[in-house]
Amino acid sequence: MLMCKDLAVIASDYIDGELPVLENMSVKMHLMMCKDCRTFIGNLRASTDMLNAHSSGQADEELIRKIDERVALALKEGSQDPTNQDPD
Ligand SMILES: [Zn+2]
Repeated sequence: MLMCKDLAVIASDYIDGELPVLENMSVKMHLMMCKDCRTFIGNLRASTDMLNAHSSGQADEELIRKIDERVALALKEGSQDPTNQDPD
């Protein structure tokens, strides 16, 4: 079974769609059960989208630092994001 720390290592590959099928499935199964990791992936995906949108120009170090802070904060606070509410 995939653990949270394992997921954190491969999260960016998951978002980029670069994981092997089996590993991709393991991540999805973990996300179904783990709210913390759903929040983590959600934030990471939002950051990745921001970076992709930004990548037409040069990467903005200040922006990247802010994103890092946001992700770290989200990880620390758990699931405070109202867009990530659970149906339960
Ligand atoms: Zn987890």
